[in-house]
Amino acid sequence: MSSLPPLPASVDHLVVGAGFAGLCAAIKLTEAGEADFLVVEKGDDVGGTWRDNTYPGAACDVPSQLYSYSFAPNPDWSMSFSPQPEIQAYIQRVARESGVLDRFRFHTAVEDAAWDAEARQWVVRTSAGEVRAQTLVVGAGGLSEPKLPAIEGIEGFRGELFHSARWDHDVDLAGKRVAVIGTGASAIQIVPEVAKVAGHLDVYQRTAPWVIPRNDRRYSALEKAALRHVPGLQRLYRTGIYWGRESYVPAFTMAPKIAFPAKKMALANIARGIPDPELRAKVTPHYEIGCKRILISNTYYPALAADNVELVTDRIARVTADGIVTTDGVERPVDVLIVATGFHTTDLPITDHVRGRDGRTMAEVFAQHGMAAYKGTTVPDFPNLFMLVGPNTGLGHSSMVFMIESQVGYLVDAVRTMRINSYDVVEPRRDATDAWNADLQRRMGRTVWNTGGCSSWYLDEHGRNTTLWPRSTFAFRGALRSFDVAAYRVEGPAPAPEPPTQAPIREDVNA
Ligand code: NAP
Repeated sequence: MSSLPPLPASVDHLVVGAGFAGLCAAIKLTEAGEADFLVVEKGDDVGGTWRDNTYPGAACDVPSQLYSYSFAPNPDWSMSFSPQPEIQAYIQRVARESGVLDRFRFHTAVEDAAWDAEARQWVVRTSAGEVRAQTLVVGAGGLSEPKLPAIEGIEGFRGELFHSARWDHDVDLAGKRVAVIGTGASAIQIVPEVAKVAGHLDVYQRTAPWVIPRNDRRYSALEKAALRHVPGLQRLYRTGIYWGRESYVPAFTMAPKIAFPAKKMALANIARGIPDPELRAKVTPHYEIGCKRILISNTYYPALAADNVELVTDRIARVTADGIVTTDGVERPVDVLIVATGFHTTDLPITDHVRGRDGRTMAEVFAQHGMAAYKGTTVPDFPNLFMLVGPNTGLGHSSMVFMIESQVGYLVDAVRTMRINSYDVVEPRRDATDAWNADLQRRMGRTVWNTGGCSSWYLDEHGRNTTLWPRSTFAFRGALRSFDVAAYRVEGPAPAPEPPTQAPIREDVNA
């Protein structure tokens, strides 16, 4: 890495993160003629969450034709729900072919980003040096920082221990006693794979998820050829998937009861996968479907029913040096402990490193006002900052790539507006931000996430949903279609330096 050139002293735009969001920003800024930018990424490659989550069985639960950039269709997806290596290869290929990688700096972590009000710039200290930028684009992701469970004794565990998003491929699971803590989206993909090789697998479930069948299938060579060569076919296919997914929105946001067909499918999935009535009862959730993310799998329930797998529903009391003790006093020995316990979603770690107009970090501002942004993208007191996958932009039903493209379109229009009007600074007004969030939270009141009788990572410690978007994705796209400068406080170009007072200009005197 020592051969890397030093960071430039300043750029017009600094993008943090090289996942789907950061890469999209880089491509669209370039297309808009904004070539003076830098993307800093703490990891060693593009891909973000798709680079990090390499656990066995990792795959996307949104169809790949939709979970991809609209401007980079891929006729070669092998499956309707593609596995992680293919998604990562797709992101790498798009990055390579778009010609933007020369402005990416890997192994470069943001340590501190502070707004310099006088210079009207962000001053960003990174692990590779300092860089100044007029705009700061935060694409650090909502699922980037693994959350380790706070369980008594876990730090004293002597076996192998790792998080699902930091899979240790050097650990051989064959014949071992493995424990998986968690039964979320990651765990249900991991469990069937681990069950195939482990000597014994204990799955620690705190809350049962709803799991519907995975209607996955492999694309034939003929289908791929048609998608590649028939004009408009792939776009039509994508559009069909998009509207199919949008049709789920009312069930999530207005009338959870209309999701009963999904509930029936999930119950049938349990019945199909698990013969034992006692185990069936243990995996049957007691809250509305959709309250937590609806999961998809054909292999999870059969894996739980396998002879070498035990579903443990007693709460974990503590972890010992070589096992897990549940509250009923039973200790189960463990060689390898896999924690699939999710991510820091409502306390985004990047917000500790970004300081706004009054020197407070974004985390401190969010602690006071709640995690909230204007249109999920801009934040009062944080001028010229654009958060991709910001507060209340997450989805329960469709592709985050669609939301990212909406936000990047807004960013590019903001930059264009600033150029045309010679604005140095744009900052969302507090009243506009409050109005946006009041409307959002009013809508949230009717959603299954808030009324469905579960607790989830969608809600913060006050029970406020700060992560999900409570409307259709086209409503989001519409709201961000153009940069609405009226909702912003702007500062024009810095005033020209005062003329020196000690040497009056003669013409003025004579005028
Ligand atoms: P998650 O959905 O937050 O699930 C975490 C699991 O760990 C839950 O079952 C939770 O139980 C359990 N847990 C947490 N702390 C615990 C503790 N102290 N003791 C016992 N159990 C504990 O995390 P995830 O599965 O990694 O998924 C996170 C998000 O990533 C998903 O919602 C999804 O957006 C995304 N994801 C997507 C895919 C995909 O296919 N596209 C795949 C994986 C992940 P409770 O339910 O009781 O809290």
